[in-house]
Amino acid sequence: MSVQKLSLLPAGYCLVDASALDTRRKVGEMARLPIWSYLIETSDGPILIDTGMPESCIHEPAEFFRGTEDEGLIVPEMKAQDLITNVIGRCGYQPSDLVCVVSTHLHFDHAGGNQLFPYTEIVLQRAEYEAALKQDNYFDICKDPALLYRFVDGDTELVPGVQLVFTPGHTPGHQSVLVSTPNDTILLAIDAAYHRPNYEDGVPFAVRDAEKAFDSIAKLKRLTKETSAKVFFGHDAGQAEEWKVYPESY
Ligand SMILES: [Zn+2]
Repeated sequence: MSVQKLSLLPAGYCLVDASALDTRRKVGEMARLPIWSYLIETSDGPILIDTGMPESCIHEPAEFFRGTEDEGLIVPEMKAQDLITNVIGRCGYQPSDLVCVVSTHLHFDHAGGNQLFPYTEIVLQRAEYEAALKQDNYFDICKDPALLYRFVDGDTELVPGVQLVFTPGHTPGHQSVLVSTPNDTILLAIDAAYHRPNYEDGVPFAVRDAEKAFDSIAKLKRLTKETSAKVFFGHDAGQAEEWKVYPESY
């Protein structure tokens, strides 16, 4: 199996209290952050990374607290076009076409559409699933026990050219993804860093375990140095303008 190309797929927006990007800030001001999924096309078929927000966010725009009330609000901003089956539909695929889904972690804006892939293997860190089962700050639909999980433990080569990189901290079993296409090496940091200042300047952001999050960023920096990878962040408001977004690809 070889990787042919990587596409960055926009999957809506989320208004989040800006203190999530910098926990030193006071709660009360909102930031509009992009949500992403990613499609890796291989010689054996497509692999989807993350499934965006749940369908319910289209019909019932709701707000909820990020953690406790002190951490401010999250307000999903989702349209029908952002539903993951519609997102991959624009690329010419339906769920049954996928080789597998990679779930980077089980937050609602990354695993909200997992239930739309009931017959597809969902590759997930075991530590993330176990944490989600124990913690009530995960949506139930993001940890549906009926789905076909394939658990991995730590750094794992998914297929040649796609490396799952264990980066706990934001959540207990978070993983980032290093993708080598014929022309580029790209590190999808996902929520190991919401945006560039978290990664480059050490600005503290919304994490479950700050020490582990800091170690994970150090690990990603070592990896990018070794591989010369370009880093794409999980929710960087400005980066879409600097990158080739679908229908372009890498
Ligand atoms: Zn997250």
